[in-house]
Amino acid sequence: MKLGIVGLPNVGKSTLFNSLTKAGAESANYPFCTIDPNVGVVTVPDERLSVLGEMYHTKKIIPAAIEFVDIAGLVKGASKGEGLGNQFLANIREVDAIVHVVRCFEDGNIVHVDGNIDPLRDIETINLELIFSDLEILERRISKTAKVARNDKSAAKELVLLEKIKAHLEDNRLAKTFDGAEDDEEEEWLKSYNLLTYKPVIYAGNVAEDDLADDGAANAGVQAVREYASKEESEVFVVCAQIEQEIAELDDEEKKMFLEELGLEESGLEKLIKASYRLLGLISYLTAGEPEVRAWTITEGTKAPQAAGKIHTDFERGFIRAEVVSYDDLMACKSHAAAKEKGLVRLEGKDYVVKDGDIMLFRFNV
Ligand code: GDP
Repeated sequence: MKLGIVGLPNVGKSTLFNSLTKAGAESANYPFCTIDPNVGVVTVPDERLSVLGEMYHTKKIIPAAIEFVDIAGLVKGASKGEGLGNQFLANIREVDAIVHVVRCFEDGNIVHVDGNIDPLRDIETINLELIFSDLEILERRISKTAKVARNDKSAAKELVLLEKIKAHLEDNRLAKTFDGAEDDEEEEWLKSYNLLTYKPVIYAGNVAEDDLADDGAANAGVQAVREYASKEESEVFVVCAQIEQEIAELDDEEKKMFLEELGLEESGLEKLIKASYRLLGLISYLTAGEPEVRAWTITEGTKAPQAAGKIHTDFERGFIRAEVVSYDDLMACKSHAAAKEKGLVRLEGKDYVVKDGDIMLFRFNV
């Protein structure tokens, strides 16, 4: 999974990105994170892994990972090519979801590109650039489709849809709030355009340390962002990028104490990962054995063969069945053998829908 961090200049994107990737950098299992300074890999915290690690006497634990991309340089006029705009927009096209950082903190020393703090105006500035970029895509698509629509029923139908989406965007609305697709085919078309404003969004309200309490309740900007986000069913998460940077420097024990002092249960990174999982409908299944204990990310509703395919395409192609025990059942029985004796290790076939925390062993033909 890949998340792109966007936002206007000087809102705290890099500070957040650096703290996230620093906090997640302990994993040496993801060496590619050093290749591109704008890409960072963070691991998904999952307490179940270390418990399983002890049960299976393994030292090798591989958590699920999320890739963050710092997409700086999105400014007013980006869709018209201002400040390398188009290149950044292309980067956004490749991500699964967008983390949109919004400045909700006052600081006279840090200039705001538009002079004052106004989170809604900032959101709309960025969203407008994304909308412009999507309109360009649609226009190209429309002229292509129009050429064949006269003799092609399907193309004619698609053309009507394209025009409807275009009108929706021209109304300054995001593609994700478009509900004019008439059937599954049209839904599929809409998805296939890979529009920026169709992607799931998490708004990250960057607040001052004093405003962190109660999820930013005292910050008027955060309240405005929440209201805005609820209309498009986006998530909001409240963070203080500066504090995150400090937290990222600490070891686990110090981190716990520091968070307690601030009255927080978890770091911004943990909150953000949970929000992304929720928003994208993701869950983790686990594999466990003496060589390694590992978490794998899948979309809710994924069936056993496709889940197996995450490990290797051969597993999916040659899938026979899966041996499954839930994490909770395994914990209650204290060992795999005991769980088996109690009949809690199930044999599941190709239609089995994998659940969060399932511990899976796949049988397959090569
Ligand atoms: P970017 O341009 O969006 O990547 O912004 P940066 O992360 O470079 O931050 C711009 C400036 O704002 C830097 O001087 C940061 O130290 C500062 N900054 C970032 N987050 C916070 C915050 O939560 N509070 C305050 N007061 N300053 C912050």
